[in-house]
Amino acid sequence: MSDKIFESYLKPAGNECIMEKAKNLYKHLIEKPPVYFDGLGMVLLEAVKPLTRVRRRDGSEQNMIMLGSNSFLGINTHPRIIAAVKKSYDKYGYGAGSPPLYSGQTELHVELEERLAAFLGTEKALIFPSGYSGNLGVISGLCRENDVIICDSANHASLFDGAILSGAKLKCYLHRNTRHLEKILRSLPDSQRGRLIISDGVFSMEGSFAPVDEICELGERYGAKVMIDDAHGFFAVGENGRGTASTFGCVNKVDIHYGTFSKALGAVGGFCAGPAAMIEYLKYYARSYFFSSALPSSIAAGVIETIKLLEDEPQIIGKLQKNVSFFKNLLDEAGFNTMGSRSAIIPILIGDTRILGKFQNDLFDAGIFSNIGTTPAVGSKTCRLRFNVMANHSRAQLREAACCLEKLGNKYGIL
Ligand code: PMP
Repeated sequence: MSDKIFESYLKPAGNECIMEKAKNLYKHLIEKPPVYFDGLGMVLLEAVKPLTRVRRRDGSEQNMIMLGSNSFLGINTHPRIIAAVKKSYDKYGYGAGSPPLYSGQTELHVELEERLAAFLGTEKALIFPSGYSGNLGVISGLCRENDVIICDSANHASLFDGAILSGAKLKCYLHRNTRHLEKILRSLPDSQRGRLIISDGVFSMEGSFAPVDEICELGERYGAKVMIDDAHGFFAVGENGRGTASTFGCVNKVDIHYGTFSKALGAVGGFCAGPAAMIEYLKYYARSYFFSSALPSSIAAGVIETIKLLEDEPQIIGKLQKNVSFFKNLLDEAGFNTMGSRSAIIPILIGDTRILGKFQNDLFDAGIFSNIGTTPAVGSKTCRLRFNVMANHSRAQLREAACCLEKLGNKYGIL
């Protein structure tokens, strides 16, 4: 995809009709798409599975090895979960119809919050209708104008958006660079009491881990609270899926845990876990909680059942972790730059957006579904293909994908 197109779409508009920028982008993406552009917005014709039927932009249908879904555990159609969801439909209907503090809260929501708090060993938890909206609510609810928020430069957009919405001063440290983080903390005046450090746990565009132990240590030393958004880590990395902090043995050092149900669990929704006082406060001050309808109870039912399933069958997470190592080793051995990935998200650095689009199209033609990471998610010079491994991929599927990648890597001079 041409970066120029996206850059002009991102830039603040001049004095023009507010629809002008939309027309410009439409012209480039829909009316005259670049020849190599096929990647975004494919239509799935069934639930995500290791081999999924997909409709492409030209209308053709194809089975593809699915390496582009966040549903890492591959349990989105598990019979136990579907049965729990169906049962909740029969009892509660298909939607909440109200925010939780009005009439949108069912006993399933309450049970799910209790289970999440128990999962992370916190006093309480709070669920949000989406991962994105929850971050806006938590951060803008907790931070005010006089506070300072210090973000890793590669944090997810929702964390930056929450910080901007809060009105607090926003500072950024270099990606995963705790020396830079410390420099910023040291530069704050003693009078600056409201301090929040925010980091992804697993970084969504590269699958690497934040140095959560060092971040927590700095937080403690400089009087800053620490929020870790482990959307991609919970239920996927660490012991029994307890996330990135658990891989560093510091789950109880994180002040604000944040996660989603939209990744490993393949559902939708976000949650925050921490001290009871903070959670009770957020019920009134997190505007995306207070002013937004509750997560459908069917999702709460499905997530509760998933947590129970993972307690009964922790080997599902083990299988994911084994598949991750297997696929990453194949790509590393082939010579790709997998950008420090340690999780189910495995990128390969391409670094040229024209090659990126062609490479991805060739992968589609070969029956392999991947995602791309480029502007506005990451800079064009570090544009990448992004693969998501699932627990139920077979070794043969992962080998076939790696083999195809190696051929294309040679074709495009990436290797
Ligand atoms: N936080 C992080 C770190 C994410 O990666 C994402 C989604 N990519 C979100 C929040 C938003 O979650 P959702 O898609 O569930 O709204």
